[in-house]
Amino acid sequence: MNSKINMKYMELVEVYEALDSTTKRLEKTSILAKFFKIMGNEEPELLPIVTLMSLGRIFPTWSEEELGLGSKLLMKAISLVAGVGPDDVENMTRDAGDIGLAAETLLKRKQQSTLFARQPLTIEKVHSNLIKITKISGNRAQNKKMEILRELFSSASPKEAKYITRTVLEELRVGVGEGTIKDAISEAFEVEKTAVERAHMLTNDLGLVAEVAKEEGEEGLGKLTLKPGKPVKPMLAQLSPGIKISVEEMGWALCETKYDGIRVQIHRLGDDINIFTRRLENISNAVPEIVEYIRKSLPACDFIVEGEIIVTRDGKPISFQYILQRVRRKYDIEKMREKVPLKLYLFDVLYYDGPQIDTPFEERRRILESIVTVTEHKLELSSQVKTTPEEIWKAEDLFTASIKGGHEGIMIKDPHAPYMPGIRGKKMLKLKAVPETLDLVIVGGTYGKGRRAHVIGSYLLAVRDENNDFKTLAHAATGLDDNMLIELSRMVEPLIVKKMGRKVEITPSIILEIAYSEIVKSPEYESGYSLRFPVVKRIREDIGLDDIDTVERVDSMFKEV
Ligand code: ATP
Repeated sequence: MNSKINMKYMELVEVYEALDSTTKRLEKTSILAKFFKIMGNEEPELLPIVTLMSLGRIFPTWSEEELGLGSKLLMKAISLVAGVGPDDVENMTRDAGDIGLAAETLLKRKQQSTLFARQPLTIEKVHSNLIKITKISGNRAQNKKMEILRELFSSASPKEAKYITRTVLEELRVGVGEGTIKDAISEAFEVEKTAVERAHMLTNDLGLVAEVAKEEGEEGLGKLTLKPGKPVKPMLAQLSPGIKISVEEMGWALCETKYDGIRVQIHRLGDDINIFTRRLENISNAVPEIVEYIRKSLPACDFIVEGEIIVTRDGKPISFQYILQRVRRKYDIEKMREKVPLKLYLFDVLYYDGPQIDTPFEERRRILESIVTVTEHKLELSSQVKTTPEEIWKAEDLFTASIKGGHEGIMIKDPHAPYMPGIRGKKMLKLKAVPETLDLVIVGGTYGKGRRAHVIGSYLLAVRDENNDFKTLAHAATGLDDNMLIELSRMVEPLIVKKMGRKVEITPSIILEIAYSEIVKSPEYESGYSLRFPVVKRIREDIGLDDIDTVERVDSMFKEV
């Protein structure tokens, strides 16, 4: 780096202290704006670095690089420099509630007992030493890391030590978030907040945004766009108020199975493939098979695609909880690969042959279909159906099939919509079955028409009340395939007590497990409630009438939401 660079670390520490001394966001913003302006004028090379350091970070959140220093190592380094035992650091940390404060206090004591002249630390020195730490690996890595830390602490004043410690732990505790930094960039370099917002949304690199705002102003910010390698915040979904109304509002819709796993954004840049979570953490190392599938199934060019990783067992999805065991894993990855097998469903493309976020979804899906080769059942495209207001049943069938397949529900997507990073808008909607199902008993039914006149197509279901009386709650017409419908009709027929046209009354005996998207108030049913999108999951022959769900449970589930 340039030898002119000599801004003292103490100046940054004074900014931290000033930020810590106020709770007012506007004041924090103007403290930072002033500092960014000075940095921009005096040492522009350092501007991206101090922007990140103002957030207590050395790397953007999505970077694969990390300091990898635990608090144990930090405490040891502090104890060596302060001339006390590691236990003393631990006790002091416990009392102060923060290793940073403990470091400050212990170094202050040490300073009082010794007279030492030290070279003032520069921002560049602190930064480059922390970067050096990330590069150390292999033999005696921990010792080497600690040596660098020790050297840093030896040159630090007590206050500097406090913030070096907190920076290493990525917890600055001065009450500054990304929002304040963005406002400060806008104030310091006199650029519109919206331009900063947009640039940040597309690059997720506040250091770069600050640099471009300073050097090229709004025009430069406007030219920033997404690039493979740097993740963008994903577009989010609102709840659908109902399939019909949602499809009608969109004109027509592309509906997809909603898989229950973790959302991933997959970037290929040159030969590198990186996988980011929704919170933009890089999990590529934890899921090597996904990297392999992507390498096999997509072209060898730069791209960004999105999808959901789920865990499967015997081809069926299993609880989403298992996936956390995989993505948080640092060791034994090969063993876990077999134990917790993953599958990827791709559902969007953000970059291919240039940015595609302004391309309508319908076209993006076409691109995705044209570039993905499904070679094995480990990587597929999300199942999708085109639904018009006249053919709502197609989306309803997809919902039923999703629940039966062990998935969460459906997504309803506007085919004309661009990809809107970080926005939870109306262009992508979700309709989910709630995780808790209800066990309900059949008390009635309605025979079908025409070809289905001999089978009961819709069942009237009930819960129990406090007197053990049955109270109706819903009609369920979907979820059973033709064979199951016939089988159920056969089981139910001996229990029919009364026929009224196509409707029948049935002695309560057969219990069904029902998934649904929502409990709503309804005067139509005796329980006072009804279920939206009830889907039969299975016949429950393993429980009795005493075990079915109650009005009380439905009532409390309704109130919980
Ligand atoms: P939820 O807990 O309901 O998943 P969320 O807050 O995590 O909600 P939302 O944006 O509200 O996320 O819901 C959309 C999520 O559904 C996506 O983030 C993604 O993880 C998941 N998903 C599963 N299948 C699809 C699909 N086919 N298309 C888009 N998103 C999907």
